Amino acid sequence: MNQDISADRILKGKGVSSGIAIGKVYLLERGRIQVSKHSVKEEQVDREIAKFLQAMKKAVEELNRIKQSIPDDEVRQHAFIIDAHILMLQDEFFRREVVETIKRQRINAEWALDIVVFKYLSSFEKVEDPYLRERGQDLNHIYQRLLRIMVGKQVSSAITRAIRGKAIIVAHDLSPADTIQLNLHRTSGFVTDVGGRTSHTSIVARALEIPAVVGLGNITGLVKNSDKLIIDGDEGTVIINPSEDVEREYRAKQVRLNAQRREFLRLAKLKSETKDGFRIRVGANIELLAEMDIVERYGAQGIGLYRTEYIYLSRKTLPTEADHYHIYRKLAENRAIEYTTIRTLDIGGDKFASKIEVPKEINPAMGLRAIRLCIKEVDLFKAQLRGILRASHFGPLRILIPMVSGLEEVRRTKALLQECMEELDAEGQAYNPGIKVGIMIEVPATTMITDLLAAEVDFFSIGTNDLIQYSLAIDRVNEYVSYLYEPLHPAVLRMIKRTVEDAHAHHIEVSLCGEMAGEPLYVPILLGLELDELSMNAYVIPRVKKMIRGMDHSYCKELVQEVLTKDSAKESEALVRKEMSRLFPEDFA
Ligand code: PEP
Ligand code: MG
Repeated sequence: MNQDISADRILKGKGVSSGIAIGKVYLLERGRIQVSKHSVKEEQVDREIAKFLQAMKKAVEELNRIKQSIPDDEVRQHAFIIDAHILMLQDEFFRREVVETIKRQRINAEWALDIVVFKYLSSFEKVEDPYLRERGQDLNHIYQRLLRIMVGKQVSSAITRAIRGKAIIVAHDLSPADTIQLNLHRTSGFVTDVGGRTSHTSIVARALEIPAVVGLGNITGLVKNSDKLIIDGDEGTVIINPSEDVEREYRAKQVRLNAQRREFLRLAKLKSETKDGFRIRVGANIELLAEMDIVERYGAQGIGLYRTEYIYLSRKTLPTEADHYHIYRKLAENRAIEYTTIRTLDIGGDKFASKIEVPKEINPAMGLRAIRLCIKEVDLFKAQLRGILRASHFGPLRILIPMVSGLEEVRRTKALLQECMEELDAEGQAYNPGIKVGIMIEVPATTMITDLLAAEVDFFSIGTNDLIQYSLAIDRVNEYVSYLYEPLHPAVLRMIKRTVEDAHAHHIEVSLCGEMAGEPLYVPILLGLELDELSMNAYVIPRVKKMIRGMDHSYCKELVQEVLTKDSAKESEALVRKEMSRLFPEDFA
């Protein structure tokens, strides 16, 4: 933005919840508790163990009290985060390890806790998956709570009671319990030293649409209570004590964004239909149940892709059939959406769960992953299938199988599903016997046999993220080849076209759920290719709806014909961009 912002007042972090907040700092100073480390005599060991166990008990009581006292219904939905902390505190393994450390090393309880927690934290830090890595923060929050109890420091109960008017909360980190205790009506933004996109603060901030920037390093050391801040949750910037000019500029941006948001929320409620009456379903991609608020607000007709990997990544043990069932039932019973497409486990490749034994592979993207792994680990797969089936009794669920490369996998999956149905029949459990089963089209070979596959399944969902990775031979997480990621590559367009034609010839529907679906520029192409559903990150739904509602389907079909004559993605992109700037000058300047 403005050139005259001096570099020392502007900080760059991760923007994790969109919007601009301007206001006074409310610094949540927790102060790190110094751990006193000392050896104890044999006869003092029992006293240290008792102190630790007492602190565990008290921490659970505190968290239960916080949960009970949550004032606001909107926030209450996020109390599940506190439940996760309570579960960690009840973990027998963790408890035993601290007790054993006190006994074996004859040290005080605080020191033993410190040793055990830091051992776990360092393994969390090595984990590549950002969601799982964030769970280390949960452990850190529990650690801080236990320490405070053991050293007798009072945890303030209503941490923002003192706030007058609205304030931006600045903290080293906010535990879920902290976030829930905040008076969120008086909170205009969140700023933290640590954290990432999937930290709980970020999830709650997004669900409540409060702008947030995290991972700023040491903002708590740079600001004091009377300071003024501007935070930009889109750019990930924080400006400390801005000049009048800068503030004016951001206030203008804030007004613009608020107007845009009102317009988006208005658009969200409208039908996704072209000017000449062609309808296409717009669905949302989700990874967590906590995202359902946003899904509803931003006008998704259904869930086009529920990535279930996080159910496996977010717990220490494998999820049971009951775990699956309870989660999916919530989605099945949600009347705000028309359907939910549950993708079965797509672990392996760039996603993994510590509890699932996946062999070390030289080329994991092409290794034992997704449906290949599920077919091998039948018990693991059946727990999920049975969970989905039982939940399907309560509402419209669909099953989506990832990484299919041939008919055999489809037939094997259907046989396993049949086996689960027979077991449930024998047990007298209800399920929907007509549940729809679809497959991801993301391995290039499948686009050559879509006629054969269409005869076996109820729908297709094109995963362009992997389809582009495999067909253009570009590793999707390798930044050196990211310039080759070209959704309008003639090969990609031909694969989508062929998939849709074969599906429609067999009277089945086709969705597209890769990142390409949420890119407004590609909307006329996807409309012209006659997809039945586009599924995307919920935030972009209103933008995509705006494009859909602003065009004629007949025009999109003509545009696709022309694009298909181009011999490179560059040429196609230039043409589409020119057309979109003509149709939507304010969006494609
Ligand atoms: C895809 O591959 O396009 C897709 C939607 O699945 P994921 O990104 O989870 O692999
Ligand atoms: Mg994929």
